[in-house]
Amino acid sequence: MLKFNNNFTNYYLKETEKLVWFKKPKVVIKKNENNHYAWFPDGQLNLYENCISNNLKKRQNKTAIITVNQNKEIKKYSFIQIDKKVNKIANYIKKISPNKKLKVMIHASASLESAVLMFTCAKLGWHFSVIFEELESLGIKNRIKLFRPNIFFSRLSKKKFISKMGFKSYKKIKFIYDEQFKKIINTKENPKKIENKVVDSPNSLFTLFTSGSTGVPKGITHSTGGYLLYSKLTCQNQFGINENSVVLTASDAGWINGHTYSLFGPLSLGSTTILIEKPISLIDIKLFKKILSLKTSVIYLPVTLIRLIKSLNKNFTINKRYIKTLGSMGEPLAPSVAEWFSNKFLKKDRAVVNTYFQTETGGIICSPRYNQNTNQAPHGSVGQPFSEYIKINKLEKTKVKEIKIISPWPGMMKNVINGKIEWNKYWDKNNNFRLFDLATKRKKNVFIHGRNDDVVNIRGHRVGSEEIESTLLKIKKITECCVVTLNDKLEGSKICLFVVSNVNLDLEIDKMIISNFGTYAIPKKVFYVKQLPKTRSGKILRRLLRNILINPNLKNYGDTSTILNLSSLKDIQKMVKSDE
Ligand code: AMP
Repeated sequence: MLKFNNNFTNYYLKETEKLVWFKKPKVVIKKNENNHYAWFPDGQLNLYENCISNNLKKRQNKTAIITVNQNKEIKKYSFIQIDKKVNKIANYIKKISPNKKLKVMIHASASLESAVLMFTCAKLGWHFSVIFEELESLGIKNRIKLFRPNIFFSRLSKKKFISKMGFKSYKKIKFIYDEQFKKIINTKENPKKIENKVVDSPNSLFTLFTSGSTGVPKGITHSTGGYLLYSKLTCQNQFGINENSVVLTASDAGWINGHTYSLFGPLSLGSTTILIEKPISLIDIKLFKKILSLKTSVIYLPVTLIRLIKSLNKNFTINKRYIKTLGSMGEPLAPSVAEWFSNKFLKKDRAVVNTYFQTETGGIICSPRYNQNTNQAPHGSVGQPFSEYIKINKLEKTKVKEIKIISPWPGMMKNVINGKIEWNKYWDKNNNFRLFDLATKRKKNVFIHGRNDDVVNIRGHRVGSEEIESTLLKIKKITECCVVTLNDKLEGSKICLFVVSNVNLDLEIDKMIISNFGTYAIPKKVFYVKQLPKTRSGKILRRLLRNILINPNLKNYGDTSTILNLSSLKDIQKMVKSDE
């Protein structure tokens, strides 16, 4: 069972003072049946009150949101402008669906539209779910089936959406398309102000479907009060965000970071947030510099994007004046990449805030803090748990073990909408929370070594795939690589390697592996590819690469709706097949 004591409850009770409440909570946490926890169960609040209304009193004309659209156009919106747009949409939806507690699905990327709709739902106490704009028909249908919305917004035009989906209507769902939305938010008249709904703190705020790196999409539901407090605290403590910060979190809206660190955390602190519709467009250094000139002080990017920027742009310099914090998300950050990132973008040596989190955790569990140097939190580590009240299981120095959380935390998910069986998988036999990742710990700092099904065990040597990948990334000509392990009757596991490079590097790879690990870890096969298949949140699809190696004739890839570059997977399959 997750454990906590009086110090824990006193600490969180004190921290609740950082939020605006309609009714202040007296109780910190209540354990319900089957490992469900309610945070601040007697407290009442509204997320919109905290993120927007509260800022209207202090800084209504300050820029709240800056958007960078697909065409690289930059637009700014103040808190009061956002509030007006939210009220317009709220009035409209209330008119078309009166007197109902609604569930709203938002099919959109990081944009003004997704932000306005997420805030409208939060204002009115409606449960929402954001899904990636590029999702294909089947992916959308599966998510509709699981979430069962009664309002569906698509950022596509009606014509485009219908031709993509192949249907005209859905029973019991009202659709709002982009053209309607734009018409409503761009009307000249002042909208009628709608009151913020008083919400019980444990109420469901949103459901997010996980990125798909583990296979079937799962709907993870988060609560309101606990989640918001966790967003705010991790933004303050890990990134050093305050009302003067300008935050660039390059995440799609359909990912947990597109909620916690693009919107709710930064705006609850009165800072300015930049929403970039296509994070990949940051490989254009000209655009990146333009964004930095907005006095951007926090830059928080997916690891795969940092690697791309590094490999595509050799000689560039940037104005480091305003940058205070660098962060990385989504994948292991190899020390060589972290070092490059920090040298290129920071004035002095500081740890990159290498954030370890999951959709399920709501926010960062472990990361270095913005003001630590690399002696305190070395490059490659994910630092320490966010606070002394987040306890993880005992880890070892060299032997990888599954990392688990053994105390509750406010950002913890409330439920999994797929059902009890899925929910129960998260809890071990002692009712600790399983994260399914492997980790080690050196001098208080945690190192993540990949998912627990990615461990390499060759002739008794256990090593995380991440460790091999980090080592290989030291070879200058390798932009990206991915280790896939297969079972082997004789040796336990064998290693296959996918390397992004247009030249053969077999000799360098073997040399590097032998000097860092030993001959046992020499890959059995190296495939040189143009791109690695990734999810939209920038994660390499190891599971699919493994499946293709096991069965080169594989026809059913499973749920492919979150894959960014399906064609690269098909190219790789051809290559594996011809190698048989
Ligand atoms: P998602 O829920 O889609 O955000 O994926 C969460 C998974 O991403 C984790 O379980 C890890 O496997 C991986 N991950 C997240 N952050 C890191 C990190 N800093 N280092 C290594 N892996 C990470």
